[in-house]
Amino acid sequence: MDGRIEGQNQARRTIHAGGEWRDAITGATREVLDPADGEPFAVVAEGDEKDVDLAVEAARSAFDGGRGAWPRTPARERADVLRRTADLLRRDREELGRLEARDAGKTLEEGRVDIDCVADAFRYFADLVAAEAPGRVVDAGSDEIHSVVVHEPVGVCALITPWNYPLLQASWKIAPALAAGNTFVVKPSEITPLSTVELIRLLTEAGLPAGVANIVTGPGHTVGARLSEHPDVGLVSFTGGLVSGTKVARAAAETAKKVALELGGKNPNVVFADACATEEGFDTAVDQALNAAFIHSGQVCSAGGRLIVEESVKERFVTELAARAQRIRIGRGTAEGVEAGPMVSGQQRARTEEYVASALAEGAVLRAGGRRPEPSEERPEGGYYYLPTVLDDCHRSMRVVREEVFGPVLTVETFRTEDEAVALANDTEYGLAGAVWTADAGRARRVAGRLRHGTVWINDFHPYLPQAEWGGFGRSGVGRELGPAGLAEYRETKHVYQNLAPRPVRWFAG
Ligand code: NAD
Repeated sequence: MDGRIEGQNQARRTIHAGGEWRDAITGATREVLDPADGEPFAVVAEGDEKDVDLAVEAARSAFDGGRGAWPRTPARERADVLRRTADLLRRDREELGRLEARDAGKTLEEGRVDIDCVADAFRYFADLVAAEAPGRVVDAGSDEIHSVVVHEPVGVCALITPWNYPLLQASWKIAPALAAGNTFVVKPSEITPLSTVELIRLLTEAGLPAGVANIVTGPGHTVGARLSEHPDVGLVSFTGGLVSGTKVARAAAETAKKVALELGGKNPNVVFADACATEEGFDTAVDQALNAAFIHSGQVCSAGGRLIVEESVKERFVTELAARAQRIRIGRGTAEGVEAGPMVSGQQRARTEEYVASALAEGAVLRAGGRRPEPSEERPEGGYYYLPTVLDDCHRSMRVVREEVFGPVLTVETFRTEDEAVALANDTEYGLAGAVWTADAGRARRVAGRLRHGTVWINDFHPYLPQAEWGGFGRSGVGRELGPAGLAEYRETKHVYQNLAPRPVRWFAG
């Protein structure tokens, strides 16, 4: 993988349209930086609107193609291609995991786990589509009518993805889009395009016909914007921030495209005192609060950056949490023993620093972090490192509590009653995910039932299942990924009504 994508001239051919690897039409390129040291480590094509037009045309003709075309390929054969892709991902797990870790600033283990999850998504959608009935027969109330509801692919799908889980987010779109029989053009984040380019190669190796899978690397304001407005695109599925997501929805509205949006989150982690009543319970809740907030340096849409803890255990909880946060080993993801990598870019770190400064100005108390670590052998000077930060005495009116930070920052608020805990946890314009920690099974169910979030964890944080829908309430998005609803996004529904004994209706006399 390194040989193909890192440091070779051929690496610039990262645009794939109609089965051919190409440079950008303008010849423009972009350096991809390693966030661990800020140095370029690959060069990709910097596409623009014209490259999009070419790729959409290729996807359109692959969709419209004759008998053997992908939308008309039997579901079982489409599933076979997805399963072969999953096998190839497993084959290349080590190289792909390393590439992902380097590009996005993860540890090697995180990179490997990401690739496993990508393979699982391909396998899940393959199994789902292969097991389906071809249609749903409807009782029309007459034996002279045969009525059936079938599903068909939408057409050309535009898939726009972020930098935090580059290949995973791409797979949650690509696998169902293909399973449903669509063709697509994917636009990965300009910051982390490399693994998605490799996935396109694997799809080709798995036997996907030319023109079905296309990729244009390049920026959001040109490539992403053109995909969102393109008249030949039938659906745009976007994962990223709220600001870009609303631009995508606005552009897509002009041609009444289907739109799916997976946006940000401001995710509460609610800890009741009874969860900490035993030493084991306390240890688990603290450990998972660290996991919730600091995995991938908090650059996770479902990051539990908002700790809402019962007042009676707050001091003990935060003291232990802050001590453990200070012991997290930050460094280059590929270095031995490192537990968390750098932030993805200098811009993302600057944004985090600004949030921490605003929180302190608004009265938050710093209990850990709040600055960059000293450079060291495992933390080169040019890398975008930032220490896990714990901000105590926070209030729901603070910007750092209301807005998505997308960095390693945990804010602490307290509550006294169950109602107060629920009110705080729901006091957000987002609604992606949240957790409740309690030893009381009844309370767990009551609180989970009242949380206005797309995923609720009870005594856990972060896991998801490909079989279960993922997505948000409120401004966390529109639609769902994964699960049966994640496949339905990529389909049109058609009712075929057949009259088995046609005769005139005589509505008009003449
Ligand atoms: P971003 O919005 O800056 O970019 C996302 C993608 O959109 C990129 O490919 C970018 O190039 C493109 N883009 C930017 N402007 C565009 C435009 N005008 N038209 C079309 N495309 C455009 O987000 P990001 O910084 O890459 O990712 C971080 C955000 O993603 C966070 O808000 C995070 O919460 C969110 N996210 C959500 C989920 C989820 O499942 N809900 C998952 C991962 C990330």
